[in-house]
Amino acid sequence: MTVPAEDAASITNVLTVDVEDYFHVSVFDGILPRAEWSRMESRVCRNTERLLGLFAEYGVVGTFFVLGWVAERFRELVKRIAAGGHEIASHGYAHRLIYDQTPAAFREDVRRAKALLEEATGRPVLGYRAPSYSITPRSLWALDILLEEGYRYDSSIYPIHHDRYGIPLSERHPYLIERSVGTLVEVPGSTASVGPLKLPIGGGGYFRILPYCWTRWGIARVNRREKLPAVFYLHPWEIDPDQPRLRAGGLGTFRHYRHLDKTESRLRRLLASFRFGPMETLVTRARQQAWDVDSARVRLPYCW
Ligand SMILES: [Zn+2]
Repeated sequence: MTVPAEDAASITNVLTVDVEDYFHVSVFDGILPRAEWSRMESRVCRNTERLLGLFAEYGVVGTFFVLGWVAERFRELVKRIAAGGHEIASHGYAHRLIYDQTPAAFREDVRRAKALLEEATGRPVLGYRAPSYSITPRSLWALDILLEEGYRYDSSIYPIHHDRYGIPLSERHPYLIERSVGTLVEVPGSTASVGPLKLPIGGGGYFRILPYCWTRWGIARVNRREKLPAVFYLHPWEIDPDQPRLRAGGLGTFRHYRHLDKTESRLRRLLASFRFGPMETLVTRARQQAWDVDSARVRLPYCW
C-alpha cells in the first residue's frame, strides 16, 4: 500500500530520538549494574552524530529526548544536537523504569536531567519521555510531578498491551491531561487503528524487527485516514550493528539485536517518504486546539 504524494507531503509527522547508549536499555537492567556504566565503551556520541548527519542530509529536524547521564558526560553532544535546529527534551537521568521508583526518587531524577539539559542549551526543556514508556496505570502519579517540575508535555503513554508498558484504553492521538497543578499535553506512541485493534507503528523495535512495509503502511494510514501526524521514535544504538554484545534473556536479546544492520537503510527510505518535524510543533497545535477541544480533553481511563 502506498500513500498518495499529496498526503505524504501535507502532513508533518514527528521524529523523535531517545538519546542513550546501548547499555542503558532496560533489558540489561538485571545484568549490568549502573555502577558499571562508566566502565563500558560509550558509542552514543558517534551514533548520534551519524543520525544528525542523516537528518541533515534529508533536511529534517526532530526532538531528541536526551538521557541526563549522557548530557552530564557529553555536554558538547547536547549542544551539537541543539545547534542542528533540533528540540532538546528529557529522557530522565538514570533510565529507571518509573513504576520501580518512589515518587521522591522520580522527582529527583527528572529535576536533575532537566537542569543538565537546560544548562547545556540555555533553553527551557519542556518535554519528557519515560524509559521504556513506563508511565502505566501504576505510575500515573508521575504526571503530576512532571508538571510540578516544569515539564509541559509528556510522551510516555503507549495505548497498547506490552509486557513492560502500555495503557491499552488510553487515547491514540495527542490529548490534554488536566490536573490541579496544571495541564499536561500527552503525545502517545503511534498506533494504526484496524477494527478493534491498535497496532503499534511508532518506531523502535516495531520498525526494526517487523518488515519496513509495516511502518510505512501504518504512518500512511494515520496520515491518510485520520489526517493526523504519526510519532516515530528511534535510538542511536539501533543504527550500530557493531556494538558490543551483552547477554540478556532470549526475548530481550532478540528484541535488542534484531536487524541492527537494516535500520539505517530503512530510516533513509522513511525520511524520503514522509515529512517529519519536532514534537514541540505538535504540542503547540494541541494546546491551540488544532483539533476540537472537547475531544482533546479526554480523561485517562484511570484515576490517581
Ligand atoms: Zn530509553
